[in-house]
Amino acid sequence: MSGMPELFGSMVFNDAVMKKRLPHDTYKRFKKIIAEGHGLDRETADVVANAMKDWALEKGVTHYTHWFQPMTGVTAEKHEAFISPKGDEVIMEFSGKELIKGEPDASSFPSGGLRATFEARGYTAWDPTSYAFIKDGTLCIPTAFCSYTGDVLDKKTPLLRSMEALSAQALRILKLFGNTQVKKVTTTVGPEQEYFLIDKAMYDRRPDLVYTGRTLFGARPPKGQELDDHYFGAIKERVLAFMKDLDEELWKLGVLAKTEHNEVAPAQHELAPVFSTTNIATDHNQLTMEMMKKLAAHHGMVCLLHEKPFAGVNGSGKHNNWSMSTDTGLNLLEPGKSPAENAQFLLFLVAVIAAVDKHQDLLRISVASAGNDHRLGANEAPPAIVSMFLGDELSGILSAIESGVSYDKKEKVEMNIGVDILPRFAKDTTDRNRTSPFAFTGNKFEFRMLGSTFSISGPNIVLNTIVADELEKFADKLEKAEDFGAELNALIRETIRAHKRIVFNGNNYAPEWVTEAEKRGLLNWKSAAEALPHLATPENIALFARHGVFTEIELKSRQEILLENYVKVLHIEALTMLDMAGRDILPAILKYTARLADGVETKTALGIPCEADKAVAVKLGGLSTDILKGKEALEAAVAEADKIECPKARAMAYREKVFAAMETLRASVDAAEPLVDARVWPYPSYGEMLFSVQ
Ligand code: ADP
Ligand code: MG
Repeated sequence: MSGMPELFGSMVFNDAVMKKRLPHDTYKRFKKIIAEGHGLDRETADVVANAMKDWALEKGVTHYTHWFQPMTGVTAEKHEAFISPKGDEVIMEFSGKELIKGEPDASSFPSGGLRATFEARGYTAWDPTSYAFIKDGTLCIPTAFCSYTGDVLDKKTPLLRSMEALSAQALRILKLFGNTQVKKVTTTVGPEQEYFLIDKAMYDRRPDLVYTGRTLFGARPPKGQELDDHYFGAIKERVLAFMKDLDEELWKLGVLAKTEHNEVAPAQHELAPVFSTTNIATDHNQLTMEMMKKLAAHHGMVCLLHEKPFAGVNGSGKHNNWSMSTDTGLNLLEPGKSPAENAQFLLFLVAVIAAVDKHQDLLRISVASAGNDHRLGANEAPPAIVSMFLGDELSGILSAIESGVSYDKKEKVEMNIGVDILPRFAKDTTDRNRTSPFAFTGNKFEFRMLGSTFSISGPNIVLNTIVADELEKFADKLEKAEDFGAELNALIRETIRAHKRIVFNGNNYAPEWVTEAEKRGLLNWKSAAEALPHLATPENIALFARHGVFTEIELKSRQEILLENYVKVLHIEALTMLDMAGRDILPAILKYTARLADGVETKTALGIPCEADKAVAVKLGGLSTDILKGKEALEAAVAEADKIECPKARAMAYREKVFAAMETLRASVDAAEPLVDARVWPYPSYGEMLFSVQ
């Protein structure tokens, strides 16, 4: 490719562009405002807006939009032209006011009862920590979205609030270790994104993919992923061309797309970026998903981001690599070389351990969705039980600290954390545990339960807030301590003792783990319907309120939106199945069976053996009855569930009754598919779809 590194960030109004285009004073003032987290004044905003507009016009841009992340899970934009009339002509204008604040209609976005439709006013406000960029010929300004009354309606605002909460508490801890030059701690994230690519022509012929993003019927193909020949395999030319385009478009947007490879299932791939600050990583992951869909179409393919597009082969997830880092460049989860760093590292480490143990509920809820229900616990992704992997070495160190034995020598000594007890461990330790939901990977944690369609905002809001809460408790104790060293030792030891049950280094897919986890008192919420109603508990309301992340009504509204969404997804899936079974599948089977029966009649008259015709016809006759009954049962289940008023009970009915009826109907259809002439079956088969891109 030509033009790298110039290409990188060429569509981003980033720091380098601002430095070049803003008057020196404005640039300095702007940088200071960002660094200190203050609001932008009108005068600075006007200058920045004007420079932004000129830069965009030079690139042929005519429109701008406030780009925001409502609770729909996708991004939203409303385009406005720069034009402003002047006599008979127009001039291109963009003011600071337009940059800072927009007023989209808020009434049609999910608000969980926060907004009555007649109070439609909503505001978007620029998040100046995330750069403006040009996409589809439009200047996009990353913004937060809230209601007229100030209630948060998006995924960006609470994320920024949670980052601030964590920074405030982490700074208190760092100060205790004598780290006074640090002004800000940010959380960092590198999200690895999995996806499927299939041929567009196949996709168009599958109503289930078109309406729901996943296949609702489909018999298993003769070949799936059993040979493991796709994982890291040579990338097909058409896919390679797509990946090249994708990298290029993402680089222009300043997204650090780094690694592209084939995943386990046929037609499955992965993209991993270099990590960045959490809110930028979140914006960039949204852009990545959007670009994947858009660019796949340029190559005659469709990108499926659903968690489980195909039964029987692995689904797609997202790995959220997470750490905390200071503005002086120190990764707080880096074990470090010297004793002081070790002690500080251990304190942050045990804070994460305590946070994950105490708030398993929130972490589980943060990854709960109808789509992810298909993966968690299905032995292709971590189970629904939250636990942590630390590896043998780190676990050994923690248990040595707990029992007061020196780590290497295994002898009883009165051990102080301050001494050099931490051996340096290689980043690439061999015991990578692929089955753990939350694994320490050398200098960061990898939260592996996220579904592929998720915004990473939710899980990171939870992570940041729960760790901030532990750090706050630690700081409260340590700031009052008379003997810092002694208190620190006691605190680390106590925390390990109290929360070690959350550490599990074994195989998370093993059935014994479920029993063991239950013994340890760990939660095991198998479905989103089970998990979601626990979001707005009094404890969680208090936690989020304490750190200024969500108010009580904001949290309650989110629970309502999530439950509603869960029901809607299953409702659409059920109706799609009924439609497909009634209008395509059953007619095809009945027609084919009739053809076989006619054949039997003719053949018998002519004395031609027709055992096969008869046997297949009889089997299909039975299965068509099952399909008809399955359809009726599903219709009844939907009707029953829809009568339920209480959102929690309705979600549970959808899980237990509707979903179960969908599975039964599917089983009958999938049993019939291999018995029917492929030329008669109304849809492309699994084999055709999974191996469609050559
Ligand atoms: P692996 O060996 O699993 O591929 P990598 O080191 O390549 O691990 O990282 C995987 C992902 O984790 C990448 O997106 C990477 O940028 C991200 N990552 C690395 N360090 C950090 C960190 N300190 N904070 C957040 N994410 C990180
Ligand atoms: Mg990974």
